[in-house]
Amino acid sequence: MQGLMQDWPLLCTKVIDHAAEHHGRREVVSRSVEGPMHRTTYAEVRRRALRLASRLVRDGITPGERIATMAWNTWRHLECWYGIVGAGAVYHTLNPRLFPDQIAWIMNDADDRMIFADLTFVPLIEALVPKLSGLRRVVVLCERENLPDSTLDLVAYEDYLAEGDEDFSWVAVAEGDAAGMCYTSGTTGMPKGVVYSHRSNVLHSLIAIQPDAMNLSSRDRVMPVVPLFHANGWGIAFSAPMVGASLVMPGPKLDGASIGTLLREERVTFSAAVPTIWLALLQHLEASGSDLPDLRRVVIGGAACPRVVTEAFETRYGVEVVHAWGMTELSPLGTLNVMSADTADLSRNDQLALKQKQGRAPFGVEMRIVGDDGAELPRDGRTFGRLMVKGPAIATAYHGHGDVLDKDGWFDTGDVAHIDPDGFMQITDRAKDVIKSGGEWISSIDLENLAVGHPAVAEAAVIGVAHDRWGERPLLVVVRKPSCDVSRDELLRFLDGRVARWWMPDDVVFVDEIPHTATGKIQKTTLRDRFRDYRLPAA
Ligand code: AMP
Repeated sequence: MQGLMQDWPLLCTKVIDHAAEHHGRREVVSRSVEGPMHRTTYAEVRRRALRLASRLVRDGITPGERIATMAWNTWRHLECWYGIVGAGAVYHTLNPRLFPDQIAWIMNDADDRMIFADLTFVPLIEALVPKLSGLRRVVVLCERENLPDSTLDLVAYEDYLAEGDEDFSWVAVAEGDAAGMCYTSGTTGMPKGVVYSHRSNVLHSLIAIQPDAMNLSSRDRVMPVVPLFHANGWGIAFSAPMVGASLVMPGPKLDGASIGTLLREERVTFSAAVPTIWLALLQHLEASGSDLPDLRRVVIGGAACPRVVTEAFETRYGVEVVHAWGMTELSPLGTLNVMSADTADLSRNDQLALKQKQGRAPFGVEMRIVGDDGAELPRDGRTFGRLMVKGPAIATAYHGHGDVLDKDGWFDTGDVAHIDPDGFMQITDRAKDVIKSGGEWISSIDLENLAVGHPAVAEAAVIGVAHDRWGERPLLVVVRKPSCDVSRDELLRFLDGRVARWWMPDDVVFVDEIPHTATGKIQKTTLRDRFRDYRLPAA
């Protein structure tokens, strides 16, 4: 028997239609690239996205063609996403922090037809254009009077929009059609294109807004500090308008003081970013003595959230921390750490410890851990295995590559994790970063989190170094905070008793800087190369 229900397509444009119709006056506030604050509404964002879509169609853009964006989080970037999908095309976010050659490679791989870019990126685009094969137009996200002199035939976004028609109807597409594209950060090998569909973006937003996930509503004022070009902007460009939450877009300034000012002045209630952003904010708050009167919840992910960050937010500023894990391939949400009915009554201290874990899977994400033979491992909170996931917003393949799922349809995340009986998952490592000592796994992430808990440590990374007897042993690499001094022995004493004896790093080295990828993750491959021949004291 067939269900007798309507076939209502899950399209990204339905999200902005809903926001404009039911939450039309909710604000989208942005710190513009030019400097001043800009205020608009969902109704206006939709009108301008319609103009953009119509103008793109007039330009000959056909459904499925890729259009790149290289921009900070602003109202114009948001309009681009909706205008592009509304023309049936595919928004493709570019990370400006990548090397120019890598960006050119990515743009050719995606076969981008046009690019919408912030003013600040014009010199970069001038250098890229000679290397690009299919690019037809460069639109700069500004007014005509701000267009810079250039070797390229630049078009000002506001002129381009003025030539559009807001009485346009979105180009018809099917929910399974491509809507967006984002390349993985590529810590090894060339980056790979993840292709989101309209359906996966809409379902991902429905997953994200659940109370035990991001818990968003029209009463929220949401600031995505995470750039739209990181992992689908964590889906916030869809989930906030879906519920009619106001958006506060931070533009290009992501330092602690700028973020702190916006959080206060724009009465932000919810925000999301990687741990380094929050560390900088907390340092700013401490130095300036200011507080966070309206902020209720922050989602912290992309890298493990150290306990010191959770503790400072929750005990000093009264802000709930939701530690989350995700990946570009997951649209990106995988798990979120929100207390469950079974853990809500734990003591403060036990909850803080539990929040070190990356959390539980919301409806829409299935997960399990498997051993080397592919067999499922127990959920006992101790046994580590490769983390496998399934869900309607999880990739099956990369652009131009074959299916990557295993025979039962699971996606191998490349992360190593354990899951406890309450369903709380904890990432212990990337599979390729795991330290194997005497056949047992040591979690580099756990050690790093503990090390940054020392007041003199700014950043820490733990890598495996060859050892005659154990195969590999952990080496702790540390960047000290400015004008702070701490010795190797002091740090080892600090860790002693906080981890199992055999997890204790064999040595500590101090460096000026730890290398990072373009998405801010520690680049362990580079560190391992650098310390390849390092002789551990006891080796
Ligand atoms: P990306 O696709 O660039 O967002 O990178 C995804 C990877 O970042 C994951 O596979 C994890 O290795 C790592 N990651 C993301 N969130 C966390 C987290 N909360 N804790 C530890 N690692 C994380």
